[in-house]
Amino acid sequence: MNWRSEPYFQAILFMFTVNRIKLCIALNRFGLVKFLKPNLMAYYRLNLNRQSNGDHEVHEQGCTYYPTQNYDSLGSHDSCKSAVDKAKKDYPDKRINGCYYCSRSCHTS
Ligand SMILES: [Zn+2]
Repeated sequence: MNWRSEPYFQAILFMFTVNRIKLCIALNRFGLVKFLKPNLMAYYRLNLNRQSNGDHEVHEQGCTYYPTQNYDSLGSHDSCKSAVDKAKKDYPDKRINGCYYCSRSCHTS
C-alpha cells in the first residue's frame, strides 16, 4: 500500500529512520497519530570522485557524504538498489558501490 494514496492522512508530523526503515508519525482525519512505514522516494547522487579503493559511491540525499560537486544526479529512487542499478547502467566502465553510511544495504566490499 502506498501511503500517499491514503486519503485520510492529513499531515506528516515527524519522520525518522530506525535501522534503515523509514517511519513517520502522521495525523489522520480523526486526529490520531499513526506510525507508518512509507515508501519514500529519495534523491541519489553518484560521486564522480573516485574513492581510494577505486569505487564510485552512490549517496542518498541527507547523507553526510552527499556530494555537492563533481557528481551526477541519479534522480529519485525508493531504494539504493535502483539508484545503484541506474548508476551502473549510466557508467558501465566505473565501479559503483553504495555508500557505507547511507546505503549500507547496497554497500559491498
Ligand atoms: Zn552516503
